[in-house]
Amino acid sequence: MEHTSIVRGRFAPSPSGRIHLGNILCCLLSWLSARQKGGAVVLRVEDLDTARCPRRYASQMEEDLKWLGLTWDEGPGAGGGDEPYYQSQRTALYQAALDRLRSMGLVYPCFCTRAELHAASAPHREDGQTVYAGTCRRLTAAEAAERARTRSPALRLRVPEEEIGFTDGHMGPYRENLARDCGDFLLRRSDGMFAYQLAVVVDDAAMGITEVVRGADLLSSTPRQLLLYRLLDLPAPTFCHFPLLLAPDGRRLSKRDADAGLSCLRGRVTAAEILGKLAYLAGFNPSASPRTAESLLADFSWDRVPREDVRIPEGLF
Ligand code: GLU
Repeated sequence: MEHTSIVRGRFAPSPSGRIHLGNILCCLLSWLSARQKGGAVVLRVEDLDTARCPRRYASQMEEDLKWLGLTWDEGPGAGGGDEPYYQSQRTALYQAALDRLRSMGLVYPCFCTRAELHAASAPHREDGQTVYAGTCRRLTAAEAAERARTRSPALRLRVPEEEIGFTDGHMGPYRENLARDCGDFLLRRSDGMFAYQLAVVVDDAAMGITEVVRGADLLSSTPRQLLLYRLLDLPAPTFCHFPLLLAPDGRRLSKRDADAGLSCLRGRVTAAEILGKLAYLAGFNPSASPRTAESLLADFSWDRVPREDVRIPEGLF
């Protein structure tokens, strides 16, 4: 549909449990960055993995975001015109994009098992993902058809031998040679689930998103997404990746850190206390004093946000 706001940001959480401080910081920064420019905010629920993201978690997340005062203009319960806002209901769009890539001769079936993927001595990336060695790229059509009789394949995108770079709005220049640093990546898993990389590009473009704000763990996904924007002839948004919040012991926060989850926090502290402390850690609240999202609009600036990961001091929350 036609989108009237010039700036359009989004929250795109995957509700596989109760949201934690890292998710909240992501929503806060997306909200502030878009709202400060008079932009609209879209909530899209990234529940492609329906087994891990049952609807009750999404409902709880929507309720938690409202409690925090992080409101959205379009999305579940708010309407908007780009419905549905649950990725699990948008698979026809991903299929259409996949068909388009396939018609360009860029998609091939991959029969590698998890064990084979690990055994292929491909180098490991810094982010812990393996580089696909291209094993099934070399299968002939007859070989692929033979294997497809006993095993349903995943689908991969043939990536070009090319550097893909961009300038992140917060982290600066970033580039990757996809063939060397990533390899042919998944578009659909063997069980039929579409890959995040494909779905996020299709949806951000369909929803007219102009700026993507998310954690630095997804910085290295961006060249893959930029390739998909180009191949699908879709306009790419700008990107701002922010540093990750670390638990007091220096580990990455995860859904298992119960004390960083809202189920623990909501009974003990107010929404303004959470937002004020997160804004303090993110550099734009001078003290850890309670703040509403609205009041932080005056203080937020990307220049103040650190570029290194931020450790949550013991006992802050
Ligand atoms: N759904 C993804 C996550 O929760 C975020 C996707 C994105 O912001 O591009 O990690």
